[in-house]
Amino acid sequence: MKFQLLINGELVNGASQRDIINPATEQVVASSPVADNKQLEAAVLAARQAQKSWAALAMEERGECLKQLASAVESNGAEIAELITLEMGRPIGLSHFEVQLVLKSCAFYSAQRLDPEVLLDDANMKVAIQHVPLGVVAAILPWNAPLYLAINKMAPALMAGNTIILKPAPTTPLATLKLAELASSIFPKGVVNVLTDNNDLGPALVKHPDIDKIAFTGSSATGKKILAAAAGDLKRVTLELSGNDAAIVLGDVDVQAVAPALVFGAFFNSGQICAVIKRLYVHESIHDELCAAMAAVLSQAITGDGLNPDTHYGPIQNKEQFDKVKDFLHEAQVTGNIICGGKVPEGRGYFIEPTLVSGLSDGDRLVDEEPFGPILPIIKFTDIDDAVDRANRSPYGLGASVWSADLQLAQDIGQRLEAGTVWINQHCAIDPSIPFPTSKQSGIGVEAGRAGLLEYTNLKVFNINKNS
Ligand code: NAD
Repeated sequence: MKFQLLINGELVNGASQRDIINPATEQVVASSPVADNKQLEAAVLAARQAQKSWAALAMEERGECLKQLASAVESNGAEIAELITLEMGRPIGLSHFEVQLVLKSCAFYSAQRLDPEVLLDDANMKVAIQHVPLGVVAAILPWNAPLYLAINKMAPALMAGNTIILKPAPTTPLATLKLAELASSIFPKGVVNVLTDNNDLGPALVKHPDIDKIAFTGSSATGKKILAAAAGDLKRVTLELSGNDAAIVLGDVDVQAVAPALVFGAFFNSGQICAVIKRLYVHESIHDELCAAMAAVLSQAITGDGLNPDTHYGPIQNKEQFDKVKDFLHEAQVTGNIICGGKVPEGRGYFIEPTLVSGLSDGDRLVDEEPFGPILPIIKFTDIDDAVDRANRSPYGLGASVWSADLQLAQDIGQRLEAGTVWINQHCAIDPSIPFPTSKQSGIGVEAGRAGLLEYTNLKVFNINKNS
């Protein structure tokens, strides 16, 4: 299968090529184009030239294009899901789920409208507000949910009347390049551009004077560099960054019932999600029972190639991240007690068994930092105030959850947690229609939901004196 860049409505070859590795087999699955600076300039120029006429269309017309894209994605859903599994490693069922989320995102945003709102209209004056597009958006993406994170930027950016340049992570460009192919025959030229790279074009996009907004998902370390570089011309930014989500489990839960949900909330996508549970605080009265119940759930899990429909947990997406997660694992083996898992299977593929670790506490690296892999520390607590303090004692604040049979008590505790999203009796329940806000060093701004659409607009006020 041939993959090409999308620049100014044309599918074109890259200036060079790079091999894309399947993390389950360490084999090359495809060759991806790599754009150079000249192609980046061409994409920015095309996006700039297309923006005014795209913004001049009615939102209904822009929404129509998005619906056509959704229908093309749906028709190619099986191929796209397979590409996601091949490049990212996740189980094929979860890749189909990602395709469904893409369709939901297109459906949600294509129905959104940004009508002007009249604040005041009397004999003397009229004041109205409207949301106007920013111009050209560059979306810079990570490797853990390649297509969902792309569409959740592209759909609102385009609906608001912006044009876009998508830059996927260098190791997971394939599904996004397939999206480029589908978009090429739907959108006017220059409205959607897709560039893939060798991890080198991000800084050039951020600095480019003809780009008005950076929509970024990735690590906090990169997010800070982007914020600093964007300050030069005060570019707008949305930064969705790292997380170290805490879940607090009270002593009144039905242990056997919550164990599978907690395992799901922590090990979804083998832990490679910004908002999965990364620290599990459990009341001492149920600590041992819950550890055993979660270990029992994981003992049934199959770790392997995501193309096998029986697989529950796929590999770590790339070698660099695999080495990083192995470091966390080795440290946990020395400082904590491995409840289950803990092995790196022999043979090909970047696999790590889903691992539960007890005996660690705040101050240990696995508790304080995000491994972004399938290792979960379980920490005993006695006093709920202490658990809340410990959950909040983190520079990150993406998500958090409270688990209890008492919904009111759980919500009261949730009010005290510093996080963009607080879930009760679930974790990582995301949907394109629900805003996904950031807090603390987990980012700036909001993705998804109507708030995610407004992030791609400037507020403009019309203030009219009727008596002149
Ligand atoms: P990363 O920050 O290394 O890379 C993300 C993207 O940024 C890539 O496309 C990369 O090419 C580009 N990039 C790298 N340096 C850049 C620079 N100086 N300027 C501009 N662009 C640059 O992140 P990653 O390793 O791909 O992803 C893992 C991280 O992403 C984790 O920390 C995870 O928590 C976070 N994440 C956050 C969310 C969220 O919604 N908050 C979602 C998914 C992942």
